[in-house]
Amino acid sequence: MIEKRIDELIKILNKANYEYYNLDNPSITDQEYDNYMDELIKLETNHPELVREDSPTVNVGTKVISEFEKVTHEVPMMSLGDIFNFEELEEFDKRVKKVVQFPKYVCELKIDGLSVSLLYKNGKLVRAATRGDGVVGEDITHNVKTIKNVPLSLPEDIDIEVRGEIYMPISSFEKLNEERIKKGEREFANPRNAAAGSVRQLDSKIAKERNLATFMYHIPEPDKYNLKTQEESLEFMKKLTFTVNPNIVCVNSIDKVIKFIENIKRDSLPYDIDGVVIKVNNYYDQRKLGNTAKVPKWAIAYKFPAVEVLTKLKDIEFCVGRTGKITPRADLDPVRLAGSVVRSATLNNQDYIKEKDIMIGDVVSIRKAGDVIPEVVEVKKERRTGEEVPFKMIDTCPKCGSILVKKENEVAYFCINKNCPARCIEGLIHYSSRDAMNIEGFGERIVEDFYNEGYLNTISDYYRLKDKKEELMELEGFGEKSINNLLDNIENTKSNSLEKFLFGLGIKHVGKKTSKILCEAYKDLDKLMNAKKEDLANIKDIGDIIAESIISYFSDEKNIKLINELKEYGVNIKYLEKEKNINELFKDKTFVLTGSLTSMTRDEGKELIERLGGKNTGSVSKKTDVVIVGDSPGSKYDKAKELGITIWNEEEFINNARR
Ligand code: NAD
Repeated sequence: MIEKRIDELIKILNKANYEYYNLDNPSITDQEYDNYMDELIKLETNHPELVREDSPTVNVGTKVISEFEKVTHEVPMMSLGDIFNFEELEEFDKRVKKVVQFPKYVCELKIDGLSVSLLYKNGKLVRAATRGDGVVGEDITHNVKTIKNVPLSLPEDIDIEVRGEIYMPISSFEKLNEERIKKGEREFANPRNAAAGSVRQLDSKIAKERNLATFMYHIPEPDKYNLKTQEESLEFMKKLTFTVNPNIVCVNSIDKVIKFIENIKRDSLPYDIDGVVIKVNNYYDQRKLGNTAKVPKWAIAYKFPAVEVLTKLKDIEFCVGRTGKITPRADLDPVRLAGSVVRSATLNNQDYIKEKDIMIGDVVSIRKAGDVIPEVVEVKKERRTGEEVPFKMIDTCPKCGSILVKKENEVAYFCINKNCPARCIEGLIHYSSRDAMNIEGFGERIVEDFYNEGYLNTISDYYRLKDKKEELMELEGFGEKSINNLLDNIENTKSNSLEKFLFGLGIKHVGKKTSKILCEAYKDLDKLMNAKKEDLANIKDIGDIIAESIISYFSDEKNIKLINELKEYGVNIKYLEKEKNINELFKDKTFVLTGSLTSMTRDEGKELIERLGGKNTGSVSKKTDVVIVGDSPGSKYDKAKELGITIWNEEEFINNARR
């Protein structure tokens, strides 16, 4: 099984390498490639005995098979290890610090082009070569000589090899593609492929017309020139009249590396970058760290997270929500998106699938909607193979088999069996979820297991678990300590706020915001239970549909019985007026939260801001005082930087809140 998958991945990646490096015409996106590569690396790490000689994990680029003359690099041209988030960057820092106590890091933009080696003899350019497979590249001197910022002779008569990146500025790329469309020629997928395609032309007139440029960043044999650090090499190259990218810093901590990355204004650069390269500055330290066969251990490439990626939709599954609503969900080939791995995406309902003409087996582009839930944006119809299977809506519940019902004015289908196991489990999970009663330990798996074992059926069963403590301790994977913890966590929910409880009941249309509005208006669950429809509908932001749903929920005998039980168990049903705890750093200031926080939910963050005297708004404007930035922030973060608004990270937010 594993061997077969490794074989598949090697085939896919080697084909992709050939198309990318030899034909300059990739058929899969870089994210798809990185994703397959990641899977292969993981499999090979777990099964080192299965690492094959032809694996792309041990080879740089691909073998050169062009008409160009071959060039052997005396010092191999390596690739770089990839990382995709700040945690991995911190791990890199830890690995470095095991060998080098106080490393300094040079941060350089990762120019999205192709690497080139320039060789000078007596100060004259004698050879330019591509990286090829790292050892053997192609001689592209005739084309490189046409690049305006490549010096043909140096101010000193020295012998030197310098390396860097050839790239195509975005403006030249757009112009080139426009011209190609007019001529009916194939467009280049991106400036990198266009640059690679241009330097690998036999006729140098073509390369000349393409307005290529270079940034140089590496001297492979620095000792010859008595250079001790990467910083010194960069300065030396500038003196020799090479173009060195101006956006480079040398810092003494990984936090400063992160700051550098966060402050990059990628969109304002006239060329494409796909990340930042972080290099240990001192050559002595670099040597101590050494290299693997393919990449140096003293450098790493931080790649920017993609906001939209392509992946394969393997299947369409159907989820039954706590209200019985059936939601089709795309089962995807796992893909990295905005810093996390995505395996599924919502497809909303059958109309949405029809509108987008989604078939099983399609390649689709997905993006994160808002900040969290991924959605399918479109189908890449040009990548259909004819083997795709049309979508068919189901007519019975996938869990209990009941006939599904489509209600008037609703697009979705519903399972109306109130005892449907899927609905019960979803209701229980919802009650224990973070924004509801927040019963730590009761995630999806445990709730499902407890349901299947007959311990949980309705939410009042949570409070009955303490009577079954002995039995529970016997369950596989549990012991006295873990069961005590779970029971304590349940006990603690009894003093939760009314709005958390009301939200936890899972009444249709009563989300977090509505729950808060209702609690503020009625202050007591008993009063809310007796409310009239007209009174409810008169509350701002509560319309007829919500009012009807509340009335219907509280007129169901089963629900009344449930609430009475919960009251008996001592669950709080009174609105707790929030005590304000004014803090001068927050008082009367306007805040915007973007990205996800690790120590609290976004709502808890907002609540904290309000308690400390601040106000929350949804969008960043000149009137915003502070933007709080969590993980994977959205465009609000860029806007805040653009407007020069004070930015706090999560740690600063918490520290300021504590003052
Ligand atoms: P890489 O592009 O991830 O990183 C190494 C390269 O970065 C170096 O060779 C160099 O050319 C470049 N670079 C830019 N700025 C630099 C700087 N300041 N300092 C040092 N190096 C700098 O690695 P790679 O091996 O060239 O290519 C692998 C990547 O190419 C994959 O991760 C994938 O994204 C893409 N790829 C895509 C396909 C496809 O089919 N879509 C196929 C093969 C490779």
